[in-house]
Amino acid sequence: MKRDPVKLGPADLVREEILALAAYPVSASAGMIKLDAMENPYRLPEPLREEIGRFVSTLPLNRYPDPTAPALKARLRATFAIPDACDILLGNGSDELIQIAAQTLARPGAVLLAPEPSFVMYRVYAAIAHMRYVGVPLNADFSLDLRRVLDAIEQHQPALVFIAYPNNPTGNLFPEEAVAAVLAAAPGLVVVDEAYHAFAGKTFMARLPEFPNLMVMRTVSKLGLAGVRLGYAAARPEWIRELDKVRSPYNVSVLAQAVTERLLAHIGVLENQAARIKSERAVLIERLRDLQRVEAFASDANFVLVRVSDADAVCARLQARQILVRNLNGSHPLLANCLRFTVGTPGENALALAALAESL
Ligand SMILES: *Cc1c(COP(=O)(O)O)cnc(C)c1O
Repeated sequence: MKRDPVKLGPADLVREEILALAAYPVSASAGMIKLDAMENPYRLPEPLREEIGRFVSTLPLNRYPDPTAPALKARLRATFAIPDACDILLGNGSDELIQIAAQTLARPGAVLLAPEPSFVMYRVYAAIAHMRYVGVPLNADFSLDLRRVLDAIEQHQPALVFIAYPNNPTGNLFPEEAVAAVLAAAPGLVVVDEAYHAFAGKTFMARLPEFPNLMVMRTVSKLGLAGVRLGYAAARPEWIRELDKVRSPYNVSVLAQAVTERLLAHIGVLENQAARIKSERAVLIERLRDLQRVEAFASDANFVLVRVSDADAVCARLQARQILVRNLNGSHPLLANCLRFTVGTPGENALALAALAESL
């Protein structure tokens, strides 16, 4: 008698590391004041939107994008002072660049190291790429414990290190000299993730020629183009050549390439918005510090980390008042009772502050 073939389900077939992951949480935001994802709250000016619309109508959408993206790369190089000696890798957001770096360096047993708490996707992409993840705890005040990082580098010899500069979700910039010490000590590639560059005023871009193992990674998302999905990284050509083999050939669409190139020709518009967000950040921190039972941490990014007495309850009450922020409680021991507020418009910030005062 012929038996039915055994059928295996996802629980039998999916890799254990993947089964253990949770999908990246994105909250429903219809009708909400959205302060959970570090988006720029300002739209582009109407004339610029119309110019982009007309320009988009001329694009050859029947064709695959040029994967070498010469116009966009030239624009990025000129706008962001990428050193001539470096090449550029483009990603569908910088998320994809993290994944490409992990997959490229994932020799058996290879380690990805990062301070933590930091950007959660470092750990996720390490797991997906089969890398061993080593998180090095920050101090309780979120400063970098350099001694501990250097010891961990010595012990684990990481192929890949990520330093978010400024750090997400804590908002602080680690001292430049500490990051330089990590670069000097690390045996492998060190990615300085400058997702919040527009709000920080500090960068390792100009120091690329100094460090053969440095890659500076950025995104246009936090600058105001999160919907476009474009990340870029600069490093020596010998690194970019290998990373580029792992990139999907058409990962950055015709639309993303062309629209980013055009909008970066108007970088002043985005820089002015970033300057407004920075001055609103100062106001927001000051008002948060006026509240009893709220600890607001300093920030070099477009968000502010706060600690309250019961983050789960406060977050739920804020949500009931249509304010969406990120609850970090439970994501890392150092983030107990922490919430992250993206800096919004002055009106949004005022509503968030009023709702918070009622929610404590
Ligand atoms: C937001 C963020 C990214 C990813 O941004 P993309 O939108 O994928 O370009 C990368 N690193 C850090 C630290 C971030 O906060």
